[in-house]
Amino acid sequence: MTAKPCSHEEAVTAAARSGDWSPELKAHRDGCLTCAELTLVVAALAADAEELVAIHAPLPDPAPIWLRAQLASRERDYRRATSAIVWVQRAAVAVTLAVGLAFVPGLWNLVKGAFTSLDLSSPVADLPRAAGSPLLVIVVSMLVLGGLALWELTAAQEN
Ligand SMILES: [Zn+2]
Repeated sequence: MTAKPCSHEEAVTAAARSGDWSPELKAHRDGCLTCAELTLVVAALAADAEELVAIHAPLPDPAPIWLRAQLASRERDYRRATSAIVWVQRAAVAVTLAVGLAFVPGLWNLVKGAFTSLDLSSPVADLPRAAGSPLLVIVVSMLVLGGLALWELTAAQEN
């Protein structure tokens, strides 16, 4: 809702600031919605201005405030720019975990078989053959290292 402009607005503003109301202007203000609202706004702003003038506290240094605002703006831009990358990384971690969980029963059997076939009482020369399948070692290493790499990438995005 837009109030209609009134030809008495400037006079009402001056009177509201100074407090000197002529009887005609006061009568107009009481009958005109635009001037009544204008009087309320000017009176509220004048009261705020008087309160601010009464406060003698020094204003804070604007440099740190400006610097903090700049840093916050850069942080927002960075988060906005990297949010898609973070979501793709999270999806990759979720897919990796889902695929890993799908292979857990088979892997567990492989690991259990490798450890049960491991004969620790045999001489050290037999250890590589007794350690089990090299494919198992490669798969487990890839899963562990891949998981660690994804975790580090995701953790780097969070910081
Ligand atoms: Zn008016």
